[in-house]
Amino acid sequence: MSKEIPYKIYLEENEMPKQWYNVRADMEHKPAPLLNPATKEPMTLAELEQVFCTELAKQELDDTTPYFDIPEEILDFYKMYRPSPLVRAYCLEKKLDTPAKIYYKFEGNNTSGSHKLNSAIAQAYYAKKQGLKGVTTETGAGQWGTALSMACSYLDLDCKVYMVKCSYEQKPFRREVMRTYGASVTPSPSEDTEVGRKILAEHPGTTGSLGCAISEAVEVATHTEGYRYVLGSVLSQVLLHQTVIGLETKIALDKYDIVPDMIIGCAGGGSNLGGLISPFMGEKIRGEKDYQIIAVEPASCPSLTRGKYAYDFCDTGKVCPLAKMYTLGSGFIPSPNHAGGLRYHGMSSILSQLYDDGLMEARSVTQTEVFEAAEKFARVEGILPAPESSHAIKVAIDEAMKCKETGEEKTIVFGLTGTGYFDMYAYESFHDGTMRDYVPTDEDLKPGFESLP
Ligand SMILES: *Cc1c(COP(=O)(O)O)cnc(C)c1O
Repeated sequence: MSKEIPYKIYLEENEMPKQWYNVRADMEHKPAPLLNPATKEPMTLAELEQVFCTELAKQELDDTTPYFDIPEEILDFYKMYRPSPLVRAYCLEKKLDTPAKIYYKFEGNNTSGSHKLNSAIAQAYYAKKQGLKGVTTETGAGQWGTALSMACSYLDLDCKVYMVKCSYEQKPFRREVMRTYGASVTPSPSEDTEVGRKILAEHPGTTGSLGCAISEAVEVATHTEGYRYVLGSVLSQVLLHQTVIGLETKIALDKYDIVPDMIIGCAGGGSNLGGLISPFMGEKIRGEKDYQIIAVEPASCPSLTRGKYAYDFCDTGKVCPLAKMYTLGSGFIPSPNHAGGLRYHGMSSILSQLYDDGLMEARSVTQTEVFEAAEKFARVEGILPAPESSHAIKVAIDEAMKCKETGEEKTIVFGLTGTGYFDMYAYESFHDGTMRDYVPTDEDLKPGFESLP
């Protein structure tokens, strides 16, 4: 007899994972190393620690250590908002009339409204421990900047955020949340940095991009005594911290002897998906279990499904190391009408390698179908999902509907990364029927690919 599954599977505090899991240790083909853009040689620790905190640079380079202890102080911070619930979507299942069993891991129960706090606190902690004065970063939609400003205020670190200009203007409340937590927020591109001035001179009136904000934040970090740069996605260290999501999910499922058939997550730079799937991927690589794993990305920024697997710049100003990843090219600028986040031109090198090895799949979806799924979900499950998270909802619903046709009782787990309260303009355009889908043509993708080194 299987145990009755509750609506929410909560863990006790003492059941929370005490280590992060580094899936690279189990990967047969390791992700390609970061390269120094000048010498094309792998980045050394000495080079990386000019930009990143030393401990984080070590994590970035470590392909062999399977587990990292989570420091006590970080565990204590996690306890303020974790463990996060694994929810059985009984109401959605009923609404869809599907035999599928749907679960979601909800990461939106904190003020930043997303999973990003899991890595923000880790990065701020290592910066503090190193005796730094502060950190710099970029933020696009604003979740990462918010998470980092919360972590920095908790640890009494200075936090300078370069916020993509169009978001800075469209999301003034995000900006004010960051300022409430003591961060300084500058619209990017700005006149404060050399790279910002250069971009403004070349593209007057530009509303900015993530790649451009990254260049500015890196410049400020490397030119200011006592500062380092931190990044909220893409990097292997960020995936490592986000494995707390997957590890908790696994513990919760194991408690009820639930074995998922498929695991679905949205993919921007790949950190939540990488974190959610890592423990399951480890089992898959070691040949212990098999799971279908699906990354979902916007059709307007399709790095996995239409990108090239190549070394590329991580930023517009080309000041960062080169990373081998599925990429649309650092020169790719997503359509301005794209409201759903997940706009970064490249994908985590860990996920890129796993995808290239055929260990996971990818799908792309258009934004109106994403908002349809978001609304369907909100109306029965109550949570108002972030547009990013709703990419995963869309594919989870698709898969549950396939089960309805075939009668299969598949178990589906998806990552619900956050809430969408700051995305109401996007919801508004969806409701007003003015939201448009944009799927770039091959011709549209060309300039991005031509920018590949
Ligand atoms: C940042 C963000 C994402 C995408 O980032 P990943 O690194 O791909 O996880 C997804 N959902 C939410 C709510 C976010 O804030």
